[in-house]
Amino acid sequence: MKPIARLSKTTKEFSTKKQDVTLQQWCKRQEELGVSARKEYWNMQVGLPYSTKKIGLLEKKSLLHANVFLKNWKKPETLYWEAVGSIAGSKTYKLSLKLDDLRRTVVSSKKHSFNGKPVTWTTWRQYAVTAADNERKEVFDTLITKSKIIAPIIHKRFDIIKKIYARHKMEPLDVYCKEHHMSLANLKAVIAELQEYAKPLLTKQWRTMSNKFLSRNPTYYDDMYFMRNTVFSHLNIPKKINPISEIRRVLTKQNFSLQAITVDAQNRPHKYPSPFCSFIKIPSDVRVSYKAEQIANDLNSVFHEFGHAAHATTISEDLPYWTRYSLSEGLSETFSTLYENILHDKRFLIEEVQLPEQTAEEFVHGLEFIKLYAIAFYCANSLFKIDYFEKQLTPDQCDANYAAHIKKCMGITVPGEYWKLHHILPEALLYVPSYLLAMIRAAELGQKLKNKYGSWWNSKEAGAEIRELMRPGADSCVGVFEKLNSEYLTCNFGSNK
Ligand SMILES: [Zn+2]
Repeated sequence: MKPIARLSKTTKEFSTKKQDVTLQQWCKRQEELGVSARKEYWNMQVGLPYSTKKIGLLEKKSLLHANVFLKNWKKPETLYWEAVGSIAGSKTYKLSLKLDDLRRTVVSSKKHSFNGKPVTWTTWRQYAVTAADNERKEVFDTLITKSKIIAPIIHKRFDIIKKIYARHKMEPLDVYCKEHHMSLANLKAVIAELQEYAKPLLTKQWRTMSNKFLSRNPTYYDDMYFMRNTVFSHLNIPKKINPISEIRRVLTKQNFSLQAITVDAQNRPHKYPSPFCSFIKIPSDVRVSYKAEQIANDLNSVFHEFGHAAHATTISEDLPYWTRYSLSEGLSETFSTLYENILHDKRFLIEEVQLPEQTAEEFVHGLEFIKLYAIAFYCANSLFKIDYFEKQLTPDQCDANYAAHIKKCMGITVPGEYWKLHHILPEALLYVPSYLLAMIRAAELGQKLKNKYGSWWNSKEAGAEIRELMRPGADSCVGVFEKLNSEYLTCNFGSNK
């Protein structure tokens, strides 16, 4: 799942006086407005007609409705954060749309084309799969240079959000840690532990992979999204395999109800290229968007997005609004990572997907390398984002800080401007550490399920146990990250070797 705009809003029906609206009424309206907005954003992201006028109106209502909450209540705390987040979202959504537009148009290389059009920020990952090495380098360098066009928008947006947070005595890092039930010191310790573990392994394996597939050592323009395709380029996975059918079979065997999950698999030109999941209404309307590309990566991301979908559709509808919706990013990413991790088990690939043993082995090997790459990359991204808020980095300091963290975590020198071309770093306040937290928690859960049920992807009992963890929404014990043992993740790596 990618971070979604938080929306809410109110309306003339509600006066801002406390006696006129109960918290329950406020939540009901908040959910209605959120559903309408998420439907509109969904249409935009899957390439269907959408209305910027309607989005504007909903953002305005969101702002008013959030203010109703702030004038009347301080608690629940998660709703207070949501209300402030809604105000920040409404005040900056135009900048977000502008950023999106520039990345699709101006951040481009006219010299090189993809599907007959200049390669842009939104198509260069797909372009990179088949481009010649020197051409890919040229495009990468051009996009890095052009990132300065979007830099003022990114910084302006973050500045507005920081000011709104400060006005309500909130600080992004503090809120993030509270949402994840952990201290900042603990978060930093987890990242440091993973970073120390991943760097030497990555340095060695990256060199091996690079020489195997590219006949040269790693270089700065071999980013994660390029390597993710490269390591699977030789894999011969039968075309008849359909990622959606595979994950549906797993969830059905585990007794999940899939009725509330709809899939959009149409290939529209303006559709967001990566699969994603939108929690339109929890638990009754959850949607997965998917566009077939490269089968190995498609399997990975479809299993991931269906993990999100299974989670959201399992949350009990009897819970209060905030317990259904105020899911921390780490909690949300845990179940998606858990389901993605099924593919890391050779037995699953051979017995269920019916891949030949050799293909299954190579697939797992590639997946593990990418996970290692991701850990090192996310460590650098997380440390940059923590510095951004903690050290109050100025726009001039960001690129150098980012390059230094990449060098420290991944052992490679990359132009520091790259963070502005990433799909999450310039948009989300933090988000990235959640992938690391979720990887550890999912490894821990996966290991426990495996010890108890063996092939847990086949087990109704395992399904029931997972649903017990999903059902309480924000109150799930899975979302308490204070006690994390990264050895679950590192051991898991070891066991697959
Ligand atoms: Zn996700």
